[in-house]
Amino acid sequence: MSLTLDEVLSSLQVVALPMKTRFRGLQTRETALIKGAAGWGEFAAFTEYDAAESLPWLNSAIECATQSLDRPLRELIPVNATVPASDDEAEIEKILSWYPGVNTVKIKVGTGIKEDLVRIARVRKYLPKAKLRVDVNGTWSVDEAVFNIRTIYGEVAGEYLEYVEQPVASIEELRELKQRLIVDVKIAGDEVLRKAKDPFAIDLTDAIDILMLKVSPLGGLQRSLQLATHHRLPTVVSSALESVVGLSYGLQLAAQLPELEYACGLATNSLFVEDLGELAIVDGAMRVGTHLVEPERLERFKVSPERLEWWRNRIKEIWRLREAQ
Ligand SMILES: [Mg+2]
Repeated sequence: MSLTLDEVLSSLQVVALPMKTRFRGLQTRETALIKGAAGWGEFAAFTEYDAAESLPWLNSAIECATQSLDRPLRELIPVNATVPASDDEAEIEKILSWYPGVNTVKIKVGTGIKEDLVRIARVRKYLPKAKLRVDVNGTWSVDEAVFNIRTIYGEVAGEYLEYVEQPVASIEELRELKQRLIVDVKIAGDEVLRKAKDPFAIDLTDAIDILMLKVSPLGGLQRSLQLATHHRLPTVVSSALESVVGLSYGLQLAAQLPELEYACGLATNSLFVEDLGELAIVDGAMRVGTHLVEPERLERFKVSPERLEWWRNRIKEIWRLREAQ
């Protein structure tokens, strides 16, 4: 089952959700919903992405809006807190308070090792027992990664460092890093998968230990499950800063993976002033299920007619690529 372009455009709702803290350079998250027989699907490709990069995101939204779901293998998904690259101690404490009962924290790093160490130490001060993940978004060279990971491990995180996410950009660099890294720290791959032209064609052997799965950029739940099977690595399901609709779909993915040993990065709606519906963290976990969109919020956060028109044109452009495939 699928949707026609007319059905996508006629059901399209675009919202701008204000954020409590700047994340990924954004203070407002613009995202879109489309509706099909199974309910809403979220098309959340960041606005700077071109049509080719946005296509899997649209495919994920259409799949979500049209397909009924298999029975979940689990009901509760443990989640991590997400700390942006902030250097304000009071803000870090405040951000951590948005994640009740959470004992895993993902910290954005790569803004300079001194600031990174201070940020990690602050998180440790407030949650001394929490497992820590740092996300570099591929910005280090191999030399920097060897030094920085050893320093983070040795000086502030120690055994609490669960993994380092995408420390360097390419598969070749990841492989070299793993050979040169003398500390026993796991490496997770994110961009290496979701920015790959064909994520099935890449060989991740000896490059990473953990695979990040993001349902929207990977083209949907079914494709994400297939990628997990194909690459045979432990996985972490993470969000792409979606609203309740996309996050619920990520929870469904986490609920359908045969194994799930890590907390998931699906609690990023804590960074919104208000989400489109209720999806709360209870004792460090989120519940799998249909989390409703509040029509009043959809109305309140809707974008201007000009922005709506921009999104309509964007979808038409992506549709041409979709049909060409
Ligand atoms: Mg990442």
